[in-house]
Amino acid sequence: MIVDYNAEPLVQVKDLCKYFQVGRHATLKAVDGVSFNIYRGETVGLVGESGCGKSTAGRCLIRLYEPTSGQVLYDGKDITKLSRQEKKEFCHKVQMIFQNPYASLNPRMTVKEIVGEGLKLQGKSNEEIEAKVEQLLKTVGLNKDHMSRFPHEFSGGQRQRIGIARALSVDPEFIICDEPISALDVSIQAQVLNMLNELQDNLGLTYLFIAHDLSVVKYLSERVIVMYLGTVVETATSEELYSNPMHPYTKALLSSIPEADPDKAQANRRIPIKGEISSPINPKNCCRFASRCEFATERCFNEMPAAREITPGHVVACHLMDDVK
Ligand code: SF4
Repeated sequence: MIVDYNAEPLVQVKDLCKYFQVGRHATLKAVDGVSFNIYRGETVGLVGESGCGKSTAGRCLIRLYEPTSGQVLYDGKDITKLSRQEKKEFCHKVQMIFQNPYASLNPRMTVKEIVGEGLKLQGKSNEEIEAKVEQLLKTVGLNKDHMSRFPHEFSGGQRQRIGIARALSVDPEFIICDEPISALDVSIQAQVLNMLNELQDNLGLTYLFIAHDLSVVKYLSERVIVMYLGTVVETATSEELYSNPMHPYTKALLSSIPEADPDKAQANRRIPIKGEISSPINPKNCCRFASRCEFATERCFNEMPAAREITPGHVVACHLMDDVK
């Protein structure tokens, strides 16, 4: 699908913050001033280590969490200020595929009930639901016989397919895929990724693809956003990010991807990320990566780096970029 980058973005995230109060004096800043756009028909990868705030940001986009501050616009409208009718439409247009297909399906419901739940809420008749569920199961590579079975009768890959059929049941435009393959066996990860790709082509879907691993989003995403401890550190097209990473954290993440070609593997120096990810509770207003960065200076521990556009569409938040013309 061709993406029109001159059109208004389908999703606009503006200075989004999501804080959680932990005790009386502590604030966990899960998402802290994150901004990005997603265009219609695009797949945007949102990547970072576990605990960086990527899933929390995804949940704010679908209103599973109310933002502490900032704005999320969908199709130009603030999602916290929708009328009742608009809210109903938004719930259909935006869907989520969850990380754990073992936990995200109700074990007491049949596949027909799970996939048809949204249709039932839309007031569809039993015949209509049955016909649509059958068609959806076919779309995700399952069949009519699976309708009366329960989630425990399926493998992990099949359960994720059921989760995808459920998301598709209400004809969404935008799907947030929250690490949809990380709980699956490696042998079936590619099948699910290929299916998501095909569905996008056939149905014109827009994806936000959340992953902890840059290698997963490489072939899927037009653009990639790298998050570290609640903040966005680098955004670029996939091509640019993988060929010319600029933020020290992105470089380290990329260097940790195993390389099949032995010559390339030898040429690529592995950049270890020292220490543990710092706590997101009451973080200092400085570069969040400073305690683990091999280039950190005193300034990095005292001043939050501003995001700078280095080349069109390639935005980096690092003090080292001050010297890049
Ligand atoms: Fe490293 Fe400083 Fe850049 Fe942060 S701002 S990534 S600590 S060089």
